[in-house]
Amino acid sequence: MKVEMLSVLEDNFIFILIDEIKREAAVVDPAVATPVISFLNKNNLTLTKIFNTHHHFDHVGGNKELKQLFPNIEIYGSIQDRNRIPFQTHFLEHKDKINFGGECAEVFFVPGHTLGHICYFFSLKNGENHLFIGDTIFGGGCGKLFEGSLEQMFNSLLFLRNTLPGNTLIWTAHEYTLENYLILEKLEPDNLLIKEKIQKVISTLKNGLNTVPFLLSEEKAVSSFLRWDDITLQKITNTNNSFDTFCSVRKFRDNPPKIVKPF
Ligand SMILES: [Zn+2]
Repeated sequence: MKVEMLSVLEDNFIFILIDEIKREAAVVDPAVATPVISFLNKNNLTLTKIFNTHHHFDHVGGNKELKQLFPNIEIYGSIQDRNRIPFQTHFLEHKDKINFGGECAEVFFVPGHTLGHICYFFSLKNGENHLFIGDTIFGGGCGKLFEGSLEQMFNSLLFLRNTLPGNTLIWTAHEYTLENYLILEKLEPDNLLIKEKIQKVISTLKNGLNTVPFLLSEEKAVSSFLRWDDITLQKITNTNNSFDTFCSVRKFRDNPPKIVKPF
């Protein structure tokens, strides 16, 4: 199974999973249909599945048009998003398994950004691990709490951090990494790993590349959103337990200081 990504709208990513033997494709969170259709045509692929992480329009906006073009398509989403994901055919629960391209993915329920948010974890036969996380984790961030509580988001992040292998590639749905880390630098001005990360991200973006996907191990080492048990971060936020530290980081991010983008 191969993964390709398309940049659409302002800063969204659509991911296309490819079964090169059968010339079939699955798409994760098609915000829009047209670029997906062009990609399929250009690469001589048939779309068989849509994997939606949650019901927001910039994740399901292309469902209708793709369903019209491929009437037998299977459309997966959370059981909690019944009636919220257009043309949904499969209603998933925590730890359900789904298949594509001769590989298997486990579905995890990660509420917080929305109440029905799920993610898809592919552990490939070749040892690669791929997590399609939607709007739950961003580079240097986590999703805004539109529906869920701080407790729910904390538990979702805790579960992912403690469960998944460090070599997991995180395919997040937006290019927010630079802005997020510039804000985290204001929270942790003495954190050298954050400064290094910012330099790396700037050089990636200046070369016209994306910061997605990124490694879970790196994100765990640098992002304040996954380091709630770090003593230094607890001192900065004047907290003494992981949950309070996470809440403090989330609140800081909700009312961010002014940052200057380097380009
Ligand atoms: Zn969203």
